[in-house]
Amino acid sequence: MSAFCSEFWEKKVGNFLNNPSLAVKNEVQDHIRTCLICRQSLDDMLGMRRILKNLPDAEPGEEFETNLNRRIQFIRRDRNRPIIRYFEYFNILFTVLIGSMIVLLFFLFSQVVENIEKKKQEEERSKPKQELILPD
Ligand SMILES: [Zn+2]
Repeated sequence: MSAFCSEFWEKKVGNFLNNPSLAVKNEVQDHIRTCLICRQSLDDMLGMRRILKNLPDAEPGEEFETNLNRRIQFIRRDRNRPIIRYFEYFNILFTVLIGSMIVLLFFLFSQVVENIEKKKQEEERSKPKQELILPD
């Protein structure tokens, strides 16, 4: 990990590495003359950069291309299957159906409960009132 004396100089050095303009280069050079921390970090980063640049370019193997093509073909075939293509529509339709069924069930249930209560009330009303029989 590289460390810098401040966030300001971390940004400056990053700037210098990515897009070295003469002004930034001079600023950084002036700074690392006196700042040991930033000089060390810049050295590390430049060293790492050199190592990476010297790595040989790696080409993907033949297997990679074959596997990639096979996967692309799988995906294309899957996409063309109607069940996959319309899956989202099925999903929405299914959700709406289930939702409306739940609402309908609640409605029917409340109707049944209401009817039962009405019947009970009617039965109670139509019952002949028992006369009170007083003991002699
Ligand atoms: Zn510094």
